Amino acid sequence: MNPILQINQLKTSFFTSSGEVAAVRGVSFELQQGEILGIVGESGCGKSVTVKSIMNIIKPPGRVVDGEILFKGENLLTISKRRIREIKGNDIAMIFQDPMTSLNPVLTIGSQLMETMKAHTKLTKAEREQRATDLLRAVQINSPETRLKQYPHEFSGGMRQRVVIAMALANDPEILIADEPTTALDVTIQDQILKLLKDLQRQQSKSVILITHDLGVVAQMCQRVLVMYGGIIVESGTREAIFYAPKHPYTIGLLRAMPKLNSRERLEAIPGSPPALINPPKGCPFASRCQSAMKLCLTRLPDFYADDEGHKARCWLLDPAVKEMKGRKGHE
Ligand code: SF4
Repeated sequence: MNPILQINQLKTSFFTSSGEVAAVRGVSFELQQGEILGIVGESGCGKSVTVKSIMNIIKPPGRVVDGEILFKGENLLTISKRRIREIKGNDIAMIFQDPMTSLNPVLTIGSQLMETMKAHTKLTKAEREQRATDLLRAVQINSPETRLKQYPHEFSGGMRQRVVIAMALANDPEILIADEPTTALDVTIQDQILKLLKDLQRQQSKSVILITHDLGVVAQMCQRVLVMYGGIIVESGTREAIFYAPKHPYTIGLLRAMPKLNSRERLEAIPGSPPALINPPKGCPFASRCQSAMKLCLTRLPDFYADDEGHKARCWLLDPAVKEMKGRKGHE
């Protein structure tokens, strides 16, 4: 099956007065129809810049410097601005972390929902009103007819995020991109919003990219996972592969730092901090924090090593020659 979205060697940089910050350094992945793909990593690893590049919302001094973003085969980096607006209005929608960035405080929820539809559909006013009511109902907001006439400040944080999800669904997009959609919410509301997103994705068979720093969210939501670090993908695989057989020392570190239910085990945060991307390291970006780092790691970035199931990671420890050398040393 052809992927609905294919990213090839995406590179995005910010050209600051201190120099080029290479935030995304050659990222490639695919999104399949109907799947939830998680992108996980610490802040500054490049995950948000990756999806903002897909949405064409990188602001100067940043810009995409290379690569391809193929939506059903069309390269979003080379098509006309008009076609991009069409695709962004109808086919790919984004849900941001802070609902207030997506909502206008001086307009009613109803007029904002209907405005989104007006720009991209030919529905009549009555049809738009009916769809707005249906959308609020779909995101489980009670008394939708009354709620449509209210302003964002009359909604709680969780309710506002539901409205933002309704707005993202307004034109029935095929792809939803959610950037830390629950970070600003408390844990109970977070669970409700994630459940809602998953239910909507199943019922309407959407393809979803979910950006998060929280592996618990990934475990609950995603079928496949990309782990990003230092502007590159360092590991990718199914949720089971990533959680039960992680290969990359960074992923292993993230999992050790993840709180476990009913466990008194001490959590181990990964010491150190991610590399500055103004002058990215030549070798493995994790080398300065990795307990297994070798000389080779400082000078050369490893390629991906994949198993038969497509679980792959970028680490020299997976290289057959390095494994053999380590095995020999172990026997000496
Ligand atoms: Fe550690 Fe080297 Fe593997 Fe990077 S390539 S994760 S530094 S062992």
